Amino acid sequence: AKKFGKKRTVVYFDELDKGVKELVELEEDLKVAVKNNEFFLLYQPQIDLKTMEIIGGEALIRWNRPRHGIETPLSFIPYAEETGEILKIDSWVIKQALMEIDKLSSLGLDDFKISMNISGNTLNNLDYLRKLISELSIIYDFSKAYFEITETNLIEDLENSREALETIKKAKGRIALDDFGVGYSSLSYLKGLDIDMIKIDKSFIDSIDLNMQNKKILSMIVNLSHELGMKVLAEGVETKEQLNHIIEVGCDYAQGYYFYKPLSVEEFEKILWEQLKN
Ligand code: C2E
Ligand code: CA
Ligand code: CA
Ligand code: CA
Repeated sequence: AKKFGKKRTVVYFDELDKGVKELVELEEDLKVAVKNNEFFLLYQPQIDLKTMEIIGGEALIRWNRPRHGIETPLSFIPYAEETGEILKIDSWVIKQALMEIDKLSSLGLDDFKISMNISGNTLNNLDYLRKLISELSIIYDFSKAYFEITETNLIEDLENSREALETIKKAKGRIALDDFGVGYSSLSYLKGLDIDMIKIDKSFIDSIDLNMQNKKILSMIVNLSHELGMKVLAEGVETKEQLNHIIEVGCDYAQGYYFYKPLSVEEFEKILWEQLKN
């Protein structure tokens, strides 16, 4: 038993060692990634359920990491949040997305909205956020920009959130409450906040197929959101059944593999262009 234990200990330290090395490497790689222009954005179309037309898209970050290939956000965003590097990344994303709005507009694709994700760190760093928004709003048109903030991040510090949202709204940006239905999910705190849209999390959309009660809850969320003047988008829609359910309960918009996966900017512009021509 002792021998076996020793052997396992060696394996354990091996793996731990590798883990630490990897983390140190990740931290170092992240530090230079923005400067070296290694990030890019994909755009996932968002659909209006009344017309079945594309109304815009959500920008989703990818990292073309040297010697590693394309990394998806869940493999680096949490570490970037820990190291603080996320502030630079969020700033890059926001600027990039605003530039894309500009570009679409110059192509004659004026009516499309672009959503971008901002992390809790940026939201809670009020001075940083204010400076960023005020600098960018001199140059860019915010009126087609949606800032996606997760429900969890928003309720962490309501007073801070109120001020952060005000900063964005003053610049004419809009607010989408992301991942609704996974966390606290009470609409009561939303009353005092100027939110334009709520995005129902995929896990909740998945559950309406299986559970009639969840569909009723979704129906109530949609009705209440509408009464509060907010639009509702269903996330992660993958099947025709889910689409039927969300139309039935009155969701306004949808996003998911059933319609489109996240697309390269070239593909995204192409399908917007095709829709405009038809
Ligand atoms: P999210 O904001 O909830 O984004 C939706 C995620 O679900 C995206 O994953 C998208 O590709 C995926 N998705 C969309 N439709 C479907 C579907 O029908 N089925 C399935 N299985 N998945 C679907 P992605 O791009 O890997 O992003 C993951 C998360 O990383 C995002 O979740 C968001 O929280 C974060 N993230 C993405 N881009 C950014 C960014 O630019 N900045 C920050 N701070 N966070 C980002
Ligand atoms: Ca999002
Ligand atoms: Ca989401
Ligand atoms: Ca999510």
